[in-house]
Amino acid sequence: MANTNHRTILFATGNSNKTREARAILGGEFVLRDLSEIGFDGELKEEEDTLEGNAISKAKQALQLTEFESCFAEDTGLEVVALGGAPGVFSARYAGKDGNSEANIKKLLENLEGVPDRRARFRTVIAYVRGEEVSTFEGIVEGTIGEEPKGRKGFGYDPVFIPRGYNQTFAQLPISLKNKISHRARAFEKFTNWLRGFQR
Ligand code: IMP
Repeated sequence: MANTNHRTILFATGNSNKTREARAILGGEFVLRDLSEIGFDGELKEEEDTLEGNAISKAKQALQLTEFESCFAEDTGLEVVALGGAPGVFSARYAGKDGNSEANIKKLLENLEGVPDRRARFRTVIAYVRGEEVSTFEGIVEGTIGEEPKGRKGFGYDPVFIPRGYNQTFAQLPISLKNKISHRARAFEKFTNWLRGFQR
């Protein structure tokens, strides 16, 4: 029987939106398992004050909970220029700790009311941890924040994020396009290029 284990990687997330996107980005080359698929339904703690710190911490927590020898996690933030980089690492909890995307978007639009500078970017950091070894990979997509939510695709802040070079939000554009140009796609591209070299 063919051994395909070296292609199976644990993604330290319980967020099925992220797992779905990651699978679409990666295609068939790497087999992903996320925490809920291996029977872990609790939340990983995100208590650091940087995306890098949270990504590393989530990957380390997952390694302690499972039998896997290595795994990766990611953390993503929306960084708005006129808000000094906020909500950034606090993007999930911007409007309160339950992480409700509608409330987060509402608060964001209120804070940007009448603000002409709408520049923003999504930043993803992936952390891969194997024993003591930690590697991180960053992906960024630049864009602007729209005046009102538009579109039903994607998740999180997608209805208000318009990537540079387009005039529709990530929630309006085809998912296949988001998965080519997004922060997450770019971080995954660096990560998988590195993994291919590493596994040779
Ligand atoms: P976290 O990485 O799970 O902590 O997510 C931070 C916040 O950013 C959450 O509110 C997510 O819904 C949001 N978020 C993460 N990735 C994306 C994305 O690709 N598009 C829009 N919002 C996102």
